[in-house]
Amino acid sequence: MDLDMWTHPSNQNNISGLIEKGINIIDPASGALASGLEGKGRMPEPEELVKKLENYFTNLAPLKHIKALITAGPTYENIDPVRFIGNYSTGKMGYALCNALIALGAKVHLVSGPSSLAIPKGLASFTKVRSALEMLAACEELADGIDLGIFAAAVSDYRPKTTASKKLKKGIDVIDTIELVENPDILKTLSEAKKQGQYYIGFALETDNLIANAKAKRLKKGCDFIIANSPSTEGTGFAYDTNKVSIIGDNYQCDIPLMAKEDLAKEIITQLMPLLNYAK
Ligand code: C5P
Repeated sequence: MDLDMWTHPSNQNNISGLIEKGINIIDPASGALASGLEGKGRMPEPEELVKKLENYFTNLAPLKHIKALITAGPTYENIDPVRFIGNYSTGKMGYALCNALIALGAKVHLVSGPSSLAIPKGLASFTKVRSALEMLAACEELADGIDLGIFAAAVSDYRPKTTASKKLKKGIDVIDTIELVENPDILKTLSEAKKQGQYYIGFALETDNLIANAKAKRLKKGCDFIIANSPSTEGTGFAYDTNKVSIIGDNYQCDIPLMAKEDLAKEIITQLMPLLNYAK
């Protein structure tokens, strides 16, 4: 626009109104105008506009270069076609972490055990699994290409040694004893094969000596950080929409107060970003 149009009070009022509404304004450039006058009113050079837009979107998506793998939910270990060993995990924390990472532009691969939650929008991939062995296989498939792994699944430590192909019948089959074998530890297995630049984060649900046990678990599993929470604290654990955690690393501890799992997921990612050299 011409010099006087840009500086006109009506136009300046409108511009102020837009800024108040949170609209970003790219100021006009100064120089020769179509009217023959010199001053503010020129369209900024296209290269300048593209640079400004790029900066804007990069700031909105600071994790756009990050590929993340998240495990979530429980695992079900089949006893027979209708019975399984499982746990009360809903997947809420893992799904909330997916949403928090997607909102920051990360490419997120979710490997989920059985869950009734809506699949997060904008995932790079979604792999539905049932058992710990299936979860491990899905994670191993993805592990090579990822920068960040967050293992929020409540994986069953054991599975029945055999799975009956037909429903076991009371009085006919032996169902009062189920022989169990240990499942592989997915986080530990993947941490052992961790490459330079990959960061893995585990969760620790501890009923007693929360911090000490979580610290020991981090070392045992070989992950970079462990997020400790306790089912015995009011409002925390599987069934709740809120949680209260501590992020524990090497000589590092950050206690995050009780909050909704969605907010907590954002807070965890915000705290982790500089620690993983992803930020700002
Ligand atoms: O040993 P514990 O189950 O307390 O460890 C919890 C952490 O380890 C969580 O991050 C969980 O996702 C992960 N885990 C795993 N594979 C298992 C057991 C636990 O990845 N078999």
